[in-house]
Amino acid sequence: MTDETTTCSFCGTSQSADVPLIAGLSGYICESCVGLAAKVVGNWGRKRTLRKPLQAPPVPQQIKQHLDRYVIGQDAAKQTLAVAVYNHYKRLRADTSTVAATLDDDGGVEIEKSNILLLGPSGTGKTLLVSTLARIVGVPCVVADATTLTQAGYVGDDVDTLLARLLDVADGDGDLAEWGIIYIDEIDKLARRGESAHGARDVSGEGVQQALLKLVEGTQVQVSTRSRRPQGDSQLLDTRNILFIAGGAFAGLEPQLERRLVKREKGIGFHAAPVETLDPAQKVHLYAKTHPDDLRQFGLIPEFIGRFPVLTSLQQLDEAALVKILTEPRNALVRQYQQLFAYEGVELVFAPDALAAIARQAIAQGTGARGLRSVLEAALQRTMFHLPSMSDVVRCIVEADCINEGADIRFEYRQAHDAPDGASEPTASVALG
Ligand code: ADP
Repeated sequence: MTDETTTCSFCGTSQSADVPLIAGLSGYICESCVGLAAKVVGNWGRKRTLRKPLQAPPVPQQIKQHLDRYVIGQDAAKQTLAVAVYNHYKRLRADTSTVAATLDDDGGVEIEKSNILLLGPSGTGKTLLVSTLARIVGVPCVVADATTLTQAGYVGDDVDTLLARLLDVADGDGDLAEWGIIYIDEIDKLARRGESAHGARDVSGEGVQQALLKLVEGTQVQVSTRSRRPQGDSQLLDTRNILFIAGGAFAGLEPQLERRLVKREKGIGFHAAPVETLDPAQKVHLYAKTHPDDLRQFGLIPEFIGRFPVLTSLQQLDEAALVKILTEPRNALVRQYQQLFAYEGVELVFAPDALAAIARQAIAQGTGARGLRSVLEAALQRTMFHLPSMSDVVRCIVEADCINEGADIRFEYRQAHDAPDGASEPTASVALG
C-alpha cells in the first residue's frame, strides 16, 4: 500500500512500472521533472557565464557611421567589421535571451563566431578600426603584437598572456573579459617563410599559430589577474565568445596576388599580352582579391586561416585621404596641435597646400598615416620651443614652404592683429575648431 502514496513531489505523478521515482531525503522526483530541472539549471548556467548586460549592439549602419567619425576611408573594411561585430554580439545576446532558453538543445541553431582577418599596409588604420569598434560596442579590447608571442616553453609571451591582459582591461571581471575583443597585429610575421625558396621553415612562427588555434577556437584557460590583484588571484576564462581579429600588412602577398590576377586577366597563349604588373589603380584594390589559398601560400597554416572566416582589406591611403586624416577625425592631428597652441593663447593655422605637403612627405616615408605625426612634429618643433617665451604672438601660420624647405612659420603679433585694417588676416588657410 505504500506505493499508492509515492508520488513525484514536483508534478504529483504516482510511481508505477513506467514511472520510476528517485527518492530524496524527504520527497521523490520523476524522470520528466529531472529533465525539466536540468534544462532550467542549464539555462541558469548559461545566464551566469554570459550575463553581462551588454547594451543592444548598434546596427551595422550605426557602427559604420560611428567609425566614420574616427577613421577616414576604408569603407569596405568598415562595412565588413560592422556586420561581423553586430552578428557576433547579437549571437551572444541571443545566447542569454529567453529565445535560446526555450529552444530544445537539438532545435536551436548554434551560430559559430566569425573571427576576422584584416589585410592592409602598415598605418592604414587597422588598429584604429578595431579599438574604435571596441569602444562603440563597449567591450574590453586588447591589442597585441604577434611577433612578441611565443610557443609555450620558449622565452617570451605565451599566448595565454593575451587573456591575462584582457582580464586586466576588464578590471578582473571574467564575464566581461569573455565578451572582449583581442586584436593580434603583425599576424603575417607568423607565416612560415622561405619554404619554397630554400626549404627552411620558421618553426616558432608556425608554433605560435598552432598555439593560437586553440585559443581562437574556444578553450578554457586558467588566467591570473596580474596587475589588479598582486596576490595572484586566478580564474577560468572561456575563450569561446572572445572575438579574435588578426591583422597584417602581408607585404610579400602583393606580387603573389598580382601573378595570379595578371595571369587570369591576360590569358595565356601566343596572343596573350606579356605578363606585366598591374597599374597603380588596380594595385590599390589588390588586397581585396585575397583568397584563403593565397594566405596558405603566404605561409599561414590552413587550420589557422580556417579560424578566420571573414577576410577584409584596407587600402593604401592617398594624399587626399591623408589630408582628411590630418583635419577631419575628432582627434585629428591638426586639431591636437591647435589645442596645444591654444593653451598658449595662440591660433595655429595651416594653409591648404601645407597640409598637402605634409601628406606627400608622409607618403614618401612609406608608413601610411603613421608618418604624419613625425612630419608635423618636425615642422612645428622650433616654434613650440620659442612660443612659450613669447607673449605677443596671436597666430602662427604654416605654409607649404615650412614643410618642404623648412622655412620659418609666419607669426602674427598682437599689434598687427589688432590693426584696424586687418591686413594680416590669413585668407586661404585652414582653421579648425
Ligand atoms: P595599422 O594598424 O594599419 O598599422 P594604425 O591603425 O595603427 O595602423 O594607424 C596608425 C595611426 O595613423 C592611427 O593612430 C591614426 O592616428 C592614423 N590613421 C591610420 N589610418 C587612419 C585612417 N584611415 N583614418 C584616420 N586615421 C588613421
